[in-house]
Amino acid sequence: MPEDRYARQVRFAPLGQEGQRQLSDSSTVVIGCGALGTVAAELLARAGAGRLTVIDRDYVEFSNLQRQFLFEERDAVDALPKAVAAERRLRRINSAIQVRGVVDDLRSRNAAELLRGANVIVDATDNFEARFLINDYAVSAGVPWVYGAAVGSYGITMPVLPGATACFRCLYPERPSGAQPTCETAGVLGPVTAIVASLQAGAAIQILSGNRAAVRRKITTVDVWHGPLRETEMPGRDPDCPCCSARNFEWLTGQHDAPVSLCGRNAVQIHANGKVNLVELAARLSIEGKVRWNEFALRFLREPYEMTVFPDGRAIIKGTTDVGVARSLYARWIGA
Ligand SMILES: [Zn+2]
Repeated sequence: MPEDRYARQVRFAPLGQEGQRQLSDSSTVVIGCGALGTVAAELLARAGAGRLTVIDRDYVEFSNLQRQFLFEERDAVDALPKAVAAERRLRRINSAIQVRGVVDDLRSRNAAELLRGANVIVDATDNFEARFLINDYAVSAGVPWVYGAAVGSYGITMPVLPGATACFRCLYPERPSGAQPTCETAGVLGPVTAIVASLQAGAAIQILSGNRAAVRRKITTVDVWHGPLRETEMPGRDPDCPCCSARNFEWLTGQHDAPVSLCGRNAVQIHANGKVNLVELAARLSIEGKVRWNEFALRFLREPYEMTVFPDGRAIIKGTTDVGVARSLYARWIGA
């Protein structure tokens, strides 16, 4: 590796050679490979974060390209799983680190396995359930994580340092009730996701390089359209918090698992039902509609629905938010 690859950040005194060494020796998991995850992962890969895992359940679409770094038009044409496309690109960016893309949905059954060994977890998901699960794992294992979210022109980020700061459930004991605005309903601007992801990557680099004390223990909000960047104090730890005080890890132990979930974009996800042979399925479904497939996923189009099936049996059915409809389509096309 050319020696000057990291010269500019090593020159930055608070990081230095020792910080770079620790960073190179570290392990990061980025959960979600959308607008936040692609930016954070690219920054961390370029910075030399030694072991980098990106986990995502979805595939690249044209509507992603406006803000999701790492992806190109070809990835959308091929409907590549985001974790596959991201892994390929990150390896081209920095061949000196270990990059692993995982096509899967973070769930209670696989969380401990996927997150084990992480020195920091970057939340680049888009839903509260995933964040509660990340928080449960992080608090139970004592691993710091960085929350991030954005919708419209607004974004928010906050570090969770187990034992030292409030955890996510200190702030949100339960899921907020009622429909929340999503990037599907309210849209989202690329500049705000890039800022939030940059702040998350900055905190991750501090943690990974041995500068945890430098992490700003604040809630940072930003609005790239209407207002400035603001920091507000994090509340203290809640002595009644079910997670970090009572250590009741409801999400990690699967008490909130559902076999079907909404994807927040006129789509429903059916969780793994058992392995599927994509070659056989392609042959069977080609009689019923349009089929495209590769080693990573099969896409089946039959108006007004589009189904993407992964080899582990998980499927995303687009064109409905009705879980009953999605279940029956899954049963009809793949099997119950
Ligand atoms: Zn807590």
